[in-house]
Amino acid sequence: MDFLHQQLALVQQQLAFVAVEPIDWKYYVQLFSWGVCLFESYLVLRQYPLYSKTAPPPVLAEHFSEEDFHKSQVYGKDKAKFALVSGLYKQAVDSLMLHYGLFAWAWDCGGQIVTKLGYSSEYEILQSIAFVCVVFFVSSIPSIPFSIYQTFFLEEKHGFNKTTPELFFADLLKGWAIGFVIGAPFLAAFLYVFKWAGDRFVPWLMGFLISFQMIMVIVYPTVIQPLFNKLSPLREGELRTRIEALAAKLKFPLKYLYEIDGSKRSSHSNAYFFGLPWAKHIVIFDTLIKQSTPGEVEAILAHELGHWYYMHPAKLLLVSQVHIFTILALFPAFMHAPQVLRAFDFPEKVAVTPPTIIAFLLFQMILTPLEAIVGTAMNAISRKFEYEADRFAVELKDKIKSEDAQDLGDRLGKALIAIHVKNLSTVWVDWLYSAYHHSHPTLTERLKALEGFKSTATKKEL
Ligand SMILES: [Zn+2]
Repeated sequence: MDFLHQQLALVQQQLAFVAVEPIDWKYYVQLFSWGVCLFESYLVLRQYPLYSKTAPPPVLAEHFSEEDFHKSQVYGKDKAKFALVSGLYKQAVDSLMLHYGLFAWAWDCGGQIVTKLGYSSEYEILQSIAFVCVVFFVSSIPSIPFSIYQTFFLEEKHGFNKTTPELFFADLLKGWAIGFVIGAPFLAAFLYVFKWAGDRFVPWLMGFLISFQMIMVIVYPTVIQPLFNKLSPLREGELRTRIEALAAKLKFPLKYLYEIDGSKRSSHSNAYFFGLPWAKHIVIFDTLIKQSTPGEVEAILAHELGHWYYMHPAKLLLVSQVHIFTILALFPAFMHAPQVLRAFDFPEKVAVTPPTIIAFLLFQMILTPLEAIVGTAMNAISRKFEYEADRFAVELKDKIKSEDAQDLGDRLGKALIAIHVKNLSTVWVDWLYSAYHHSHPTLTERLKALEGFKSTATKKEL
């Protein structure tokens, strides 16, 4: 532990200038965030002309009817326009709020709320919770019209929306309520660790965050998700038998097998698994079950089990821990830096002893460009995992020595195509746009790779 703290102290020495030099941090945050926003807009503009192509890529030509391809192009075009306008609008609103000192105002507001409740400003954690609520409300309200437009106009126009206005607002309020019920104690504990551990907070906070993630793995499926969707055990039949047999052959600890009423909100389809190492849940969207044959859904699940077999979720968790560690290791430099708060319009009396939540929030904003790069790197890792899981499904026939698994690769290809066609997914994708935004390879890339995996698998047999 001492070695760790020595190393962290070295990092702090390098960053000592943050505490003393009057740098115009607000200006940099404006510059960075506009930079990221304009880059994202540029990506949309690169992608946009591809929606005017009149025929799908050759590999997909026989799978897309002319009508479906045309529909997917029009849907893509509408989504791109929406992304461009909403991205610029959101950035403009955030930028104005930053310019007019939203955070300093919200901190003051939080103080007044806490005073009204009968507590003094000594209660930093209470004021921090009130502050976060104020910031959250003020900054989320301008984006509500955009989500209304997206759900009831954009998705509706293309036949995906199943949400009613009542459900939309019920979801919104439920989301806020749950955010508060979980977020407030989380924030209180998070800030308490700083208070309690002082400058040696890094290992303690890491421990706290990992425990919180573990708890959420249990709480989310059992408590939170049922508030939004109905999960019912997958009914007996060919699909259930196939999935259970597959799980048994791979010794996948399948504890719960659910069908989820995803169609209540949208007709987009999906399947996923989660849970603790010894008790996994598999959840399949009713939309996927309706669209694909049991054999195709089984192939999708073979891909999902590939993620489990190669421990992809655990690896991603590890990468995210390294990411969190890096952020926490850099943070102390910004923790006691009145100059940083002054740059964001905080009055002298608040800036002298920076409240931890403020320092952390401003520090996160300063990290914006770094986070954009980390996001792209995470996408690259995730794509590599997608290929691995696809390869797993293709080669499964060798692992479980089953006649029936011979054509899993073909079925996976068919299922992927069906999902893309039904979801009207974009098929022509600009490489840079895809590298930045997509955690999955494009359909064309995956089909091509599947062919490759199939031919190497056949060669091994010969
Ligand atoms: Zn996957």
